[in-house]
Amino acid sequence: MSFDALSWRGQFPLLASHPQLHYLDSAATSQICRAAFDAVGLHELGRRANVLRGTYRLAEMADAAYEDARRQVAAYLNAGSADEVVFTSGATASINLVAHAFGEGLQPGDEVALSLAEHHSNFVPWQMLRARRGVALRFLPLAADGRIDLSRLEQAVTPRCRLVAVTQASNVTGAVTDLAPLVAAARAVGARVLVDGAQAAQHGPVDVTALGCDFYAFSGHKVFAPNGVGVLWGRAAELERLPPFLGGGGMIGRVTAADTTWAPPPRRFEAGTPPIAQAVGLGAALDWLRQQPWPEMRSHGEHLLGRLLDGLEALPGLTLLGPRQPEHRLPLVSFSLAGIHPHDACQVLDQHGVAVRGGHLCAQPLMDYFGVTAAVRASLAPYNTEEDVAALLAGLEDVVRRLS
Ligand code: PMP
Repeated sequence: MSFDALSWRGQFPLLASHPQLHYLDSAATSQICRAAFDAVGLHELGRRANVLRGTYRLAEMADAAYEDARRQVAAYLNAGSADEVVFTSGATASINLVAHAFGEGLQPGDEVALSLAEHHSNFVPWQMLRARRGVALRFLPLAADGRIDLSRLEQAVTPRCRLVAVTQASNVTGAVTDLAPLVAAARAVGARVLVDGAQAAQHGPVDVTALGCDFYAFSGHKVFAPNGVGVLWGRAAELERLPPFLGGGGMIGRVTAADTTWAPPPRRFEAGTPPIAQAVGLGAALDWLRQQPWPEMRSHGEHLLGRLLDGLEALPGLTLLGPRQPEHRLPLVSFSLAGIHPHDACQVLDQHGVAVRGGHLCAQPLMDYFGVTAAVRASLAPYNTEEDVAALLAGLEDVVRRLS
């Protein structure tokens, strides 16, 4: 069965009403799918109430919808139980939750291993933890193409390592991390593994059980769902032993003037009113995504990526960041253009109806590693077509003609 990207595009209200838009910035935010948009609308119009607080029917309907969403997320992740799914405001909040709750148990001299290829969201919280708890950060060695060099893991994953925090796929190079050796190295020294799935989760259902990690973080707005919601998946036994991060309503067992006990996970980590309608939208998006023809969609992405890479290589002065081989990367590419600032390039591309991102891409340590200050990034989702790639390449020719 061949995949029809144009009809997929029709499932995205904004794209359907902007036929001339070449949206190539899904790594920053994907467009919302109709299933998620409709689910949010239905919820807000028919079931809006707070969760876990009311005993009237409307509130019970809101509760049921919220817990259904948790099950839908668990199914997308192949999690052992829906109780392993914590709703947060996004990947950043999920990672900060671990940095605080898990970090609380760390001592000076304990180590967290991460890489220079991390998004700032999976970098800065560990530097902040270092300042709070005196832990040391160890950096996983990178190969020249920005991928983690798996042959030298013992340099960073030492017997003092307590946590390996690593991205499943880089938002700059698209490089996909081979997690199995990292998980094995962490297990060998008794360390836990946090996977930043913010980019990877957009490209098909995830199997946290097969990955063998302990925590997995991602955001709704990058998986064709609303923003303001995200997920921290945690292995049940891991969540059970963590203290809460934020205190407030909903996360307690019993509060007295003297002391407070905690609710079991996932509630323990969901202080205050959660993003209810957004979670319902996220559940609907993932439920819909799970039923999509992913093998065909991946082939479509690889085909477009191949076209894009071929076209980029023909452009004078263009340097690609990251590995060339399509099998090692998501369908996203970042590059620099000799003598042209990425923001200028993006503005010219916008005149061609092409939306791409330019800047440091929230990955300054990786930019430093590559010796550049900024880059242009084009990222593809299954709703992108040959026309989108052709428009980008034509726009880039114009950029080079006008600006170099
Ligand atoms: N990690 C990676 C790899 C990302 O690409 C992003 C978003 N650009 C994040 C984390 C943070 O996601 P959010 O801003 O939705 O919290």
